[in-house]
Amino acid sequence: MIKFIKVSKTYGNDRQALRNINLELEEGSFTFLMGSTGSGKSTLIKLLYREEVATSGDILVFGKNVRALNAAEVPLLRQQTGVVFQDFKLLPQRTVFENVAFALEIMGTPRRDIDKRVRSALELTGLAHVVNAYPGQLSGGEQQRVSVARAIINKPTLLLADEPTGNLDPETSWEIIRLLMKINHSGTTVLVSTHNKTIVNHARKRVIKLDKGSIVEDLPAGARSGN
Ligand code: ADP
Ligand code: MG
Repeated sequence: MIKFIKVSKTYGNDRQALRNINLELEEGSFTFLMGSTGSGKSTLIKLLYREEVATSGDILVFGKNVRALNAAEVPLLRQQTGVVFQDFKLLPQRTVFENVAFALEIMGTPRRDIDKRVRSALELTGLAHVVNAYPGQLSGGEQQRVSVARAIINKPTLLLADEPTGNLDPETSWEIIRLLMKINHSGTTVLVSTHNKTIVNHARKRVIKLDKGSIVEDLPAGARSGN
């Protein structure tokens, strides 16, 4: 389970990005995070993989207090957490295979295991046919699927996606959301930030809405926001 307990985050001296956030995400759940630009979505996601540290409050992920992790424990948290970004962040000089294999290579995984796991991730994300292509040769939707494959290569317990469909057309956006749901069905807890109301209304998953750093709405799965 993931739990935010009275979490606040202030950048510098005065820019308060999150205010007193209390939140629980069940293990295996799928949740959307909504809110206009500047409402604190990226900050909330960054706190979960220790890209940023909360100013006050506690964040529990997989039984660990993320705010209290020492330098040796942070890489472990990152191994258990996959992250997908709006702008893909792929390495342009490396092939699809190499982009997805990268984290395993750094960990010293044996070549045979790397091969097997990368191929299985590319199969799952529907990319088996572009394994040797470079990111620049792929459509936006394909590039985002590569970044999803990269994010799940370590079989993470938690998958975070920060506006993963922000650069994609509506149809391709749906493909990515469906892929994230498929990954969720295999047990991974998924948190997705988005601006896309059409997707959120159709997906009928839990929706948490942020406004100026506070949670202003929390609709359970199956409910509709009505707008
Ligand atoms: P969102 O992802 O919803 O657009 P962010 O979490 O990026 O929101 O930003 C929330 C607030 O924190 C905004 O006011 C933003 O300007 C501020 N902020 C975000 N990152 C930083 C940073 N690194 N330094 C200073 N202020 C920041
Ligand atoms: Mg953001």
